[in-house]
Amino acid sequence: MLNLYDTQSGAMKPVQAEDGKQLRFYCCGPTVYAAAHIGNFRTFVVQDVFRRVVELGGLRTKHVRNITDVDDKTIRNSCAQGVPLQEYTAVWTDKFHADCKALNCLPPHVEPGAVAHIPEQIELVQMLMDKGHAYQSDDGSVYFRISSYADYGKLAHLDRQSLKLGETANTRADTDEYEKDSVADFVLWKARRPEDGPNFWPSPWGEGRPGWHLECSAMSHKYLGDTFDLHSGGVDLVFPHHENEIAQSRCACGGHSARHWFHVTHLLVDGAKMSKSLGNMYTLDQLQAMGYTPAALRYLLAAGYYRRPLNFTLAGMKDATAALNKLGRFDKELAKRAGDKEPTYRDLLKKRPEPGPFAAAWASLEDDLNTPEALGHVFSVIKTIKHADLSPEEAAATRRSFRMITEALGLQLPDPDADVEAPEEIRALADERWAARSRKDWAAADALRAKLAELGWAMKDGKDGYQLTKA
Ligand code: AMP
Ligand code: ZN
Repeated sequence: MLNLYDTQSGAMKPVQAEDGKQLRFYCCGPTVYAAAHIGNFRTFVVQDVFRRVVELGGLRTKHVRNITDVDDKTIRNSCAQGVPLQEYTAVWTDKFHADCKALNCLPPHVEPGAVAHIPEQIELVQMLMDKGHAYQSDDGSVYFRISSYADYGKLAHLDRQSLKLGETANTRADTDEYEKDSVADFVLWKARRPEDGPNFWPSPWGEGRPGWHLECSAMSHKYLGDTFDLHSGGVDLVFPHHENEIAQSRCACGGHSARHWFHVTHLLVDGAKMSKSLGNMYTLDQLQAMGYTPAALRYLLAAGYYRRPLNFTLAGMKDATAALNKLGRFDKELAKRAGDKEPTYRDLLKKRPEPGPFAAAWASLEDDLNTPEALGHVFSVIKTIKHADLSPEEAAATRRSFRMITEALGLQLPDPDADVEAPEEIRALADERWAARSRKDWAAADALRAKLAELGWAMKDGKDGYQLTKA
């Protein structure tokens, strides 16, 4: 059984389905105003590993992940470009789905969007109004009164004494994101403002739109009920987003909201927080343009322990590519010996293999999703296995056990002997080098060769042209 750290209790807890059969969980999804960056994908990939370990461990799942398609950023960008909000967000939703597919993330069972659930959100605000947990202020917006909920702050471990929650009536937050030191009554329904353009809906409190925190309470309630098994997001969501979700859900609907809270620590780039101003925000497309595969990014993201920051570097992408090739080579040798068909994730779910020589790796996955430790075990074991000594049956059994670990991590094993098509950007550099060589500009040609090598490509010169191979 999987043991996983729970943010709320600050302790390890077994991941359990309340009904013993199906784990019902909610993940906060993307805000679709641009392509998701590799930090976002750290969280989505870790959540996917979580789901795979739960399913391979023998439980079915119901996975709900929302699409935030109305908020300050989506409205701002769609208005600036003069495109209707839904048209604008549809493009980025499609892009998100394509990237998830490339990164081998299982699609959630339900993927509700906020705009399609306005009535449910209004109903939730009405429940909070009826029970005295919400009020309309003179700015026309409706706020949640945090002093009305005695457990406010428990998830983020806020100190209620120093917050003086009873005295916050005059402090209100009408933006979606704020820090712990500005704890305040938060907005449920935002009154219509001129800068919202055509993006407003009627409500009992006038025209406006939902606050960001509201959608996850309304949609988890609709698709998973008042109490469900687990809720997840990146660490930045602990406060205020999840704290506010708990307050809304418990005050409006009763129940416990989620019984287990699972948060993924952030991805850093070259040791620093990702930000537009530092210019260190990568997307999957950018990495592919440099010649890296989505499978290598998946490996890198899945290989970090989710409770520690993961530092992304391009050198790390190279190491991930090499490590993945090693696993691909091991699998191919086993396949040759076993002569069996390739075991897919679905096959393994139907007939769970014995972990066999990979028992220690599986145990690491079940111990707080310790993926680096699991991979450490895998690499130690594969060094000791001599393919030639295995009978076809033994090779097939070993392969199934091995694939149980790689499928739990969602790794797409490459065929190490397959010809790889160089991406356009690599071809452009190679063409440039070929031109430099033809005009005998050796310095430029050497510099370009070095640049290609840095990106993991080697160029073999022929009489009339060149050949590109993965270094
Ligand atoms: P957003 O699209 O901003 O709502 O974020 C989608 C998911 O990505 C949320 O679960 C965030 O907590 C998570 N996230 C944002 N930045 C990072 C990061 N640098 N590393 C890991 N997860 C992140
Ligand atoms: Zn959420």
